[in-house]
Amino acid sequence: MSDIIARRFAINGIVQGVGFRPFVFQLAHRYGLAGDVANTSSGVSILVEGSPGAIDAFGRDITTKNPPLSRITDIVEIAEMVGNRTGFTIVASRAGRSRATLISPDVSICEDCRRELFDPGDRRFRYPFINCTNCGPRYTIIDDIPYDRPNTSMKHFPMCPDCFREYEDPMDRRFHAQPNACHVCGPHVTLFDHRQQRIEVVDAIEETRRLLMEGYIVAIKGLGGFHLAVDAENTDAVQRLRRRKHREEKPFALMAESLDIIRRYAGMSAAERRLLQSIQRPIVLLSRKNSCPISEAVAPGNRYLGFMLPYTPLHCLLLAEIEKPLVMTSGNMSEEPIAIDNNEAFERLSGIADCFLVHNRDIYLRSDDSIVRHVAGDIRFIRRSRGFIPVPVFLENSLPPILACGAGLKNTICLTRGDKAFVSQHIGDLKNVVTYDFFRQTDRHMRRILDIEPELVACDMHPDYLSSRYAAELSDLKRIEVQHHHAHIVSCMAENRIEGPVIGLSFDGTGLGTDGAIWGGEVLTATFGEFTRQAHMAYVPMPGGNAAIAEPWRMGLSYLYACYGDDLWNCALPFVHTVDSKSGRVLLDMIRKNVNCPLTSSLGRLFDGVAAILGIRSHTAFEGQAAMELEMIAGRPGREYYPWEWSRGEPRRIRFEPIIQAIVRDREEGVSPPVISARFHATMQHLFTDLCVAVRRDTGLDRVVMSGGVFQNAIMLRLLLKSLEEKGFTVYTHSLVPTNDGGISLGQAVAAQAMVR
Ligand code: ZN
Ligand code: ZN
Ligand code: FE
Repeated sequence: MSDIIARRFAINGIVQGVGFRPFVFQLAHRYGLAGDVANTSSGVSILVEGSPGAIDAFGRDITTKNPPLSRITDIVEIAEMVGNRTGFTIVASRAGRSRATLISPDVSICEDCRRELFDPGDRRFRYPFINCTNCGPRYTIIDDIPYDRPNTSMKHFPMCPDCFREYEDPMDRRFHAQPNACHVCGPHVTLFDHRQQRIEVVDAIEETRRLLMEGYIVAIKGLGGFHLAVDAENTDAVQRLRRRKHREEKPFALMAESLDIIRRYAGMSAAERRLLQSIQRPIVLLSRKNSCPISEAVAPGNRYLGFMLPYTPLHCLLLAEIEKPLVMTSGNMSEEPIAIDNNEAFERLSGIADCFLVHNRDIYLRSDDSIVRHVAGDIRFIRRSRGFIPVPVFLENSLPPILACGAGLKNTICLTRGDKAFVSQHIGDLKNVVTYDFFRQTDRHMRRILDIEPELVACDMHPDYLSSRYAAELSDLKRIEVQHHHAHIVSCMAENRIEGPVIGLSFDGTGLGTDGAIWGGEVLTATFGEFTRQAHMAYVPMPGGNAAIAEPWRMGLSYLYACYGDDLWNCALPFVHTVDSKSGRVLLDMIRKNVNCPLTSSLGRLFDGVAAILGIRSHTAFEGQAAMELEMIAGRPGREYYPWEWSRGEPRRIRFEPIIQAIVRDREEGVSPPVISARFHATMQHLFTDLCVAVRRDTGLDRVVMSGGVFQNAIMLRLLLKSLEEKGFTVYTHSLVPTNDGGISLGQAVAAQAMVR
């Protein structure tokens, strides 16, 4: 027959271990095509033979109806010789296959599995580990590649005949679902009290729910680690959890069974709803409703509540009949990584949890819940972890294998291979041994499962970061130090797939500059390999160094001293009178004698200082808290803003004195802090828009890249985006990796490659 043709499709991307071959198999059947499908070293190869119309339709469906977890990055079609083929087969994987394919992240339970979970007639009715090719754990249970059951923590659970039949049947939705399991053969849950005594009950999940509703704190083993759960409406219980966890003020995340329940507590746009329901199921920050019955202790002083929907079958069962949210916060002591191992959890959490709901499926790599927000039309990561790791950032150009070690706080690492940059899950603040162990473990683990042997190591310029020391220890690798704020800008350029030169607004709390000062209010021009400082906030002493980060009152005094000298005590500000006069004098002495007073151009510190001067906060419980509260109280920014000026010269120095003096005057005249905060935000908007216009005049550059922790401030992000676009700039922001230091490792990797050339 002359109208029969044959064609090969070579497909790259996330196409293994995600139900791609059975999808192709079923599609070929639907269109009556013969041929085969096989995994290859870089993806999947399909050979089909049949009528041109059917093959075209088949090709269209492959890219439009592909399984939810798959991601096609590249598809090549090649004409093949007709071979009178009959039938369609799935070619078994050969040993030693594909180390270059992409591993799927962990994904929330799918609708099909959820239906079976609550179907009394199904053999997996109420089975807390139900999953299929479209859902379930992946990244957190993998120990090595290829992604096959013996290389996962499911290796301890041989499949029963029923499960095995599903696993082997290409028409079954559990065909080659590596974590496939059931009541008979799979993992199960057990409930323990805090003395590690097993609590004998018929249904451990039911009992857990009952305990929670009575106000107990329960440690619950989830997908990427343990949660600590408590009834979110029970203030006593929430406060008890805070006390025991030594987490006095940082907001707790919430989990609720349905969107309807969440709507009672928080407002939700269509975009936010889609984020909540996405297969990654992140924590989404939503604006809290005024009269909501959530305990104030859940998120003190915060306009937002972080909500997520249940993402494992265990969570679905637990929340099934609870008409209110549970606090579900990471199972750790403040500052430490989340616990993943049962014994580790008993050891570390026994002083916090009253009971433990554990299971016997091991977690190989911890992964916290991701935290996102929807701002200015896009998803913004505050923490990128579960659900998104290890999906790479696709780069414009290919890189050699590089390890980038990230910054000191909110650390992530990044490994590159070809045009893919694999940013790790959130590791945390590298301040203690436990977190540093997690950092090293993540490097080892990612190198193994991604099969990357780095040739180059990139790190921050700061020699004292544990991540920088780690890089220095890898003495067989060429090491490149990347300036912190340059790395921020390159990170944002890389995820937007643009090359320089660009204007970069790099605004954050802390990063070591090339002159030894602490930078953070930087207007740069930058390429991947180089940057020039065009402007920065004028330097101000940071009395006590790091102590000034935890104690914004120090910054408040430092700014006032710079503006008024010893006359600062005459300012009619409540703040000045709340400062203990002895410590105040000691502090000014430090400034005068230049003792332990590093200089900073940090915008984060300016926000802290303003928050202190307005009496919003003098001591913080976590990094960025004062600046965040300044954002929270802000009224709607309008036309009013404060005067500013910058000195000529290279780089320009932005004087803060006119801004601080105007704020003090406003405050003395009784203008309320919300109005002052709004004016201050508007000042930042106009000041930096004008600066970008000035830099454009000098350089001709009209693309602006915005990065750094300050852009977690939604007002700053929205206002600057808007006014820069109005001035004709093309503006690039983060929506794939965090704008905070969690995105630094990506920028380090890309910059290091350019710098080494
Ligand atoms: Zn499923
Ligand atoms: Zn089974
Ligand atoms: Fe930073």
